[in-house]
Amino acid sequence: MHVAVLGAGYAGVTLTRTLERQLPESAEITLVDERDTHLVQHLLHRAVRNPEIEDQLQVPLEECCQRATIREATVESVDADEGRVNIDDGTLSYDIGAICLGARTAYYGLSGVRSRATPLKRLEDAREIRSAFLDCCEDGGRVVVGGAGLSGVQVAGELADLAREEGAESAVDVVLLEQKADVAPGFPEPFQNAVADALDCRGIDVRTGTTVTGADETTLTTDAGTTIEYDQLVWTGGITGQPSLGDTRRQVQSTLRLGRRTFGLGDAVRVIDDEGERVPATAQSAVGQASVAAENIAALADSGVGGFEPRLSRYVYRSRGWVVTVGDATVAQVGSRVLRGKPAKALKTSIGVRHLAGVGAVEDAVAFVRESVGGSQA
Ligand SMILES: Cc1cc2nc3c(=O)[nH]c(=O)nc-3n(C[C@H](O)[C@H](O)[C@H](O)COP(=O)(O)OP(=O)(O)OC[C@H]3O[C@@H](n4cnc5c(N)ncnc54)[C@H](O)[C@@H]3O)c2cc1C
Repeated sequence: MHVAVLGAGYAGVTLTRTLERQLPESAEITLVDERDTHLVQHLLHRAVRNPEIEDQLQVPLEECCQRATIREATVESVDADEGRVNIDDGTLSYDIGAICLGARTAYYGLSGVRSRATPLKRLEDAREIRSAFLDCCEDGGRVVVGGAGLSGVQVAGELADLAREEGAESAVDVVLLEQKADVAPGFPEPFQNAVADALDCRGIDVRTGTTVTGADETTLTTDAGTTIEYDQLVWTGGITGQPSLGDTRRQVQSTLRLGRRTFGLGDAVRVIDDEGERVPATAQSAVGQASVAAENIAALADSGVGGFEPRLSRYVYRSRGWVVTVGDATVAQVGSRVLRGKPAKALKTSIGVRHLAGVGAVEDAVAFVRESVGGSQA
């Protein structure tokens, strides 16, 4: 029995570690990723202001796994029914597989945006954003962040506080654009309000209800026919499917089954949970889906693909609350309560630590605590 996990993000690493415990020793497990490290993506915005944290955000896959074979390769296409993967250095066949390849930034075909904007998905993006922003701080100018979801609000907060640290708050404008009526769209209203307050306190110019229609070298256009000049453009306007998956995020139901022998989880797919709810694409959901996928892979391995169909577990989305940083401010929603200040910061730190410890990076977790408690960034 060969189980292949494609992608070593939150979904892939959590799934691999669970399978290592749950499957019999005789089952071979392969974890494929184009990088040899797991990226702690939900804290990526922090590397824009604080590059020293970069090492803690990259966990070597060797440290994450006990017995899985790690294959550093780029997936080019997947046949989910046949269990065949085309990778840049050949092919890989599996008995049971899981697609955990995440998503890429969506530009919705907006004229000129893709070529002029920097997304925020990898450390390279964080470095590029920082370097262009420091130039802005020196020369003065305006940085526009397009999209006020979790990534957009957090990167805008980091930029505003970086400008302050550089003594450039009066020279640089940070503008955050959002198509919907509120920041953090889709989140509970008290949380949205607390995030909006934190953005406002930092002097961030938030423009909701603003749809970008295109960009040239210096100017963005909006659907209202207005223009916004910019010196730097960061794009966090949404996600779409990976090229290796036909540029789409296929929909899966609550068993996460994507094909006869394949499951799909995390940002790579659009999950409808067992109560018919559309599940948000977050690290929190990806980790939750990994345990259901592991149970289902173990059940299918037990019954044999093509044999008697096992009863599969179903994923139900339950939010454990939300925590975001807006520069030095932290906002959390736990149940119906919104937390700010020290309690929210402690919660954010503990989530980062739990994740690092959960993927086996205990030393990084310790360093993260030291950094968060000692520094001002968490
Ligand atoms: C700045 C920012 C802040 C965020 N904040 C939060 C937050 O506060 N809370 C929260 O819950 N979520 C947050 N998120 C969202 C969260 O990071 C994602 O939802 C999460 O990373 C999804 O996990 P995943 O495993 O599905 O995909 P990913 O973590 O993206 O992992 C996908 C993996 O697949 C690999 N891969 C992709 N294509 C290929 C290929 N062709 N071949 C081989 N390997 C490939 C990648 O290298 C990567 O390792 C944030 C995201 C960003 C960018």
